Amino acid sequence: MVRLDGVRKEYGETAALDGVSLEIYPGEAVAVMGPSGCGKSTLLNMIAGLDRPAAGTVEVHGERLDTMTETGLALFRRHHLGMIFQFFNLLDDLPALDNVALAAQLTGSKAGPARKRALELLGELGIADRRNVYPAALSGGERQRVAVARALMNRPALLLADEPTGALDSKAGEQVMDLLLDLNQIGQTLLIVTHDERLAHRCASRLVELGDGTVVRESALERL
Ligand code: ADP
Ligand code: ADP
Repeated sequence: MVRLDGVRKEYGETAALDGVSLEIYPGEAVAVMGPSGCGKSTLLNMIAGLDRPAAGTVEVHGERLDTMTETGLALFRRHHLGMIFQFFNLLDDLPALDNVALAAQLTGSKAGPARKRALELLGELGIADRRNVYPAALSGGERQRVAVARALMNRPALLLADEPTGALDSKAGEQVMDLLLDLNQIGQTLLIVTHDERLAHRCASRLVELGDGTVVRESALERL
């Protein structure tokens, strides 16, 4: 699903990524961990097609992202990737349902079918009753579930999560972990960047540890 080979990225004198090679297979759940500044965000940006390597290749879902045009990357992201973030990145002036439905409308779906699928997803995530509520009035856990619903709208080949529990209290964090685990168990490929050991051990089947822009260790995880 993901193949990085010899990926390098510099910011001035600093090598944010210094020859990273990594593979993620369909159906895997991989956690990426490492100290602040080790290159996690840069790696995620490469895989999301938000940044390009100075050297090396990036292949996601059978497509080379490092050579794709900007327009191609934007389409690729909308159609094949789902992303969730620490601070949710919801649109504040749209209620929950519209935040979710918009993801499908951006790929050309009509409003009716998009809203129907959005409502189904909110139902599956247990928050259908919150569909008309604006993000400001949702709890953190509810906001992240709306963000997950939005990320799943277009049935992404790969779901990318950047510190998905980082802004949540422990109970809401647990719910989001359960949700990610459930998604992986029905076949969703996951890449989770986190500082949270519990999240990694609960949801991931493999751990990739970064240090100073390189992969320092890869290990299989026993799910807790
Ligand atoms: P992490 O996500 O693990 O904290 P990052 O990928 O954000 O690490 O950063 C890796 C290194 O690259 C750090 O030294 C960081 O300061 C540097 N870096 C990241 N993004 C930029 C940028 N846009 N401009 C300059 N330096 C950057
Ligand atoms: P995270 O919480 O995911 O580790 P960071 O704080 O490392 O995020 O980075 C947040 C954003 O700022 C990223 O998009 C990263 O590329 C950028 N960034 C990180 N370090 C620097 C830097 N030294 N100079 C400019 N931008 C940076």
